[in-house]
Amino acid sequence: MKFGGTSMAGTERIRRVAGLVRAQAAGKGGARNEVAVVVSAMAGETDRLINFCREANPLHDPAEYDVVVASGEQVTSGLLALTLQSLGERARSWLGWQIPVRTVQSHAKARVEAIEAPEMLETLKQGEIAVIPGFQGVSQDGRVTTMGRGGSDTSAVAVAAAIGADRCDIYTDVDGVYTTDPRIVAKARKLKAVTYEEMLELASVGAKVLQTRSVSLAMKAGVRLQVLSSFVEDSANASADDLLGTLIVSEEEMDQMVEKGLMERQLVTGIAHDKTEAKVILTRVPDKPGAVAHIFEPLADASINVDMIIQNVGRDKGETDVTFTVPQADLARAQALLEDRRDLIGFNRIITDSQIAKISVVGVGMKSHAGVASTMFRALSDRGINIQAISTSEIKVSVLIDEDETELAVRVLHTAYGLDAVE
Ligand code: ADP
Ligand code: ASP
Ligand code: MG
Repeated sequence: MKFGGTSMAGTERIRRVAGLVRAQAAGKGGARNEVAVVVSAMAGETDRLINFCREANPLHDPAEYDVVVASGEQVTSGLLALTLQSLGERARSWLGWQIPVRTVQSHAKARVEAIEAPEMLETLKQGEIAVIPGFQGVSQDGRVTTMGRGGSDTSAVAVAAAIGADRCDIYTDVDGVYTTDPRIVAKARKLKAVTYEEMLELASVGAKVLQTRSVSLAMKAGVRLQVLSSFVEDSANASADDLLGTLIVSEEEMDQMVEKGLMERQLVTGIAHDKTEAKVILTRVPDKPGAVAHIFEPLADASINVDMIIQNVGRDKGETDVTFTVPQADLARAQALLEDRRDLIGFNRIITDSQIAKISVVGVGMKSHAGVASTMFRALSDRGINIQAISTSEIKVSVLIDEDETELAVRVLHTAYGLDAVE
């Protein structure tokens, strides 16, 4: 069981979480379950801690940053263990270094490498509930690491895989995965199931309900995932075992659900948006072998993730424009790196724009059907929304637009693909 920040925000909420954990541990008909719980920091806490780091030292040492931001989860894991104990349950907290959750060195975006938890498994068998702070791990040299924003989802999947859990339930503030962010589109529909592949794509283009890495890990390790709400009125009546949330399933399982009439096959499964990227245009880049390598090598060396890349067809004078996107947080660094190499690359001007959003439509149905992209372009143009760049993959089409038009674009596309819920 994993509980996100809003589920852990304060004593009252933690008490409700403890109730859900207790009910799950009690099981049905006297068959007790072994339960491991992964928790996030209280809502807003990680942002608050990051701010302290910024104030202390804008060029903070990533290792010390991790020490600070990992503390939010330490607090909630202890509090949940205390609350469970107050309900008469046996429970203890297991910090990342105590389990241990081994990660690669890279601070602030560490990846889980291995979890071997014989000691914890033993206590689970003996009926003790394990409460684990998400987001945090320990590096080879024994230092605290964190796994990037939203990383508790990944902690939960990694723990589930390590202990061979029957299921990994991700409790959050919405009752499942929707066709789009239900906070933007009131007519978004809850999905009974989504395939790993689609969820992976949706998460990577901005549907923050699950961290991207948690989905790829679940897919690789075969962890059964369910997204559901912790904001239920009466936990005694709504059991997670009834699978009322959204299940993340394999394509085979999805096919079976469609055959049984439990799911409908849609051309587009969901729509996501991402306002965290920035656009960079380099003008009049020499149209010759090696030019783009000179642009992207320094960015890669600096671990800056480049997303969309568009190179225009060369003009007469053997010059071309290159457009790409980077995370807004890395824009200043990217710009400085490119300015430093102006002569080597040979560009004329560098133009940047942070006021952009990426809107993506995702669905495995696209593999076998034409026309998904053209529907998107038509729907956006009918509302006068200008497309600045386009990229596609097997099951996704993404466009860059003006950030101010994000909500409108998501709504228009949701309707255009027939995803709106009928009243
Ligand atoms: P937690 O703190 O529990 O980890 P998050 O805020 O990280 O919760 O993720 C849940 C949020 O994800 C929801 O409140 C919702 O606004 C957002 N979200 C974005 N896209 C989707 C989607 N397709 N389905 C459900 N929720 C979504
Ligand atoms: N607390 C961390 C964050 O806010 C990790 C998480 O909640 O998943 O990003
Ligand atoms: Mg989250």
